[in-house]
Amino acid sequence: MAISRILLSDLKAGRCSNKVEMRLLRSWKARNVKKGGELMWIDLLFVDEKSTLIHGTINSHRLKKYGDQFSEGSLHSMSGFDVTRSPNNFKISDFPLAIRFNDHTAFELLTDSVNPIPDEMFRFRTHQQLLALANTGTHLPDLIGELASIRSTFNDNLQGNQRVMVTLQMEGDLSICLSLFDGLGYDFHKKFTNFGGEPRVVVATCVNPKIVGGRLFANGTSGTRIYFDKETSAGLSYYEKLATDGSGSEKNPTKMLHAQKVETLTVSELNEYVITGEPQIIDFLCTGKLTGVQAEKGWCYIGCARCAKKLLRGESSFTCPACANPNAVASLRYRVELSISDGTEEAVFVAFDEEMSKITKFSASAVGELMGGSFDDQQASDVPTVITDLVGNTYTFQLKLTDFNFSPKHQTFTISRIFTDRREAPIPVFDGEGGDDGSITNSQGDISLGSTSAEVVNNNEKETSPLGVPALGELQQVDKCTTKDRKLEMSEPTAKKARSD
Ligand SMILES: [Zn+2]
Repeated sequence: MAISRILLSDLKAGRCSNKVEMRLLRSWKARNVKKGGELMWIDLLFVDEKSTLIHGTINSHRLKKYGDQFSEGSLHSMSGFDVTRSPNNFKISDFPLAIRFNDHTAFELLTDSVNPIPDEMFRFRTHQQLLALANTGTHLPDLIGELASIRSTFNDNLQGNQRVMVTLQMEGDLSICLSLFDGLGYDFHKKFTNFGGEPRVVVATCVNPKIVGGRLFANGTSGTRIYFDKETSAGLSYYEKLATDGSGSEKNPTKMLHAQKVETLTVSELNEYVITGEPQIIDFLCTGKLTGVQAEKGWCYIGCARCAKKLLRGESSFTCPACANPNAVASLRYRVELSISDGTEEAVFVAFDEEMSKITKFSASAVGELMGGSFDDQQASDVPTVITDLVGNTYTFQLKLTDFNFSPKHQTFTISRIFTDRREAPIPVFDGEGGDDGSITNSQGDISLGSTSAEVVNNNEKETSPLGVPALGELQQVDKCTTKDRKLEMSEPTAKKARSD
């Protein structure tokens, strides 16, 4: 019996016995950072002859069967797969359905398709549209713009660049800052160095738009790919348009690459630095042993499930001042004060949700659920053993110092990241649970099938800190002329909130 061929737009939810022909545009791995980077599934982005984009997933245990077939750009016929509703969060296509491999899925490489299938497809959004999508976590759009500047932070002990901030000029002189961490930052630098000249047009796929401190960012995710100039047709058109407009051609005559080194200090040097140093926003690395947990400071707070800021209790609901939402969804989040010693001196470092989840391998919500009772009971309970069990371990901490650290009120250092092995090269990782076998419930209770993003892990500190401390390197993307103002703008509310805490 011949299997009839249909278009993606004809798909209906359920098992599909018809055949579709598609091109695999991109694929990337979804890893679980809470389980040591274990591979969970592979995300696939397909397009068909009618330019319908669809999100596909294949669970890691099914990969073997299909061997090496997932090469990007290749044509495929596929039948016997499951069609489901597309994920609600971090959408990589606008199509309402998604594809999942099951045990009976036939997936074959084609040398040619019946009708031509596009070999690239992007979901570019205007600056205005990106602003509207910012902080919603609903879509991972693509980005195109003209390269204005590049800044990066790095450290000798950790391979590669830690963070690369690429400022892109968009339409009407509006700009956006593309923020790439770890492996992504490293790849960007490698590509940039090998490009043989400074690119003018940058395309970045599957970015997560965020507004931080009033500025629009596009955070890289595991699905982010970078293309320069004429590597894509879209880039080529943009490039030609810039050339004919004559716009911006004189604006960026030089390669603008600024790198700031993140230094390593001992605890005693840190303590000294905040007394004698100039107030500033700066990152340091510090390796030390966790000698105790400040139990009287508790272990968690009740945060907004959307923005992670501390919630205010109303009569029958929680209010999130940051989201201006009087009915915010509450979720338990870590805030733990850790005593750290490296033999030189002691200090108290404060760790927030994402980093604590990483080293305990449990989300605060999961720990709270195990305890049972109300949020208040959980918050008031003893520091759970998943945390106290960590005492005695040695970690490398990345600390973000703000102006507040240099004031007489200073007592603790805020941790932006924790590295379990100082020599490890951080890689972009997914943070989530599950695979293509069912809907996934993450710790916030959101249902999402596919991607959460690398930036969720890497950028978490600014989201999880109820004190609103800016994330690693947030200053470094700011052009020199505005750096000073920016510092003042960011540090003032931080200090105020900290005092009232
Ligand atoms: Zn909120």
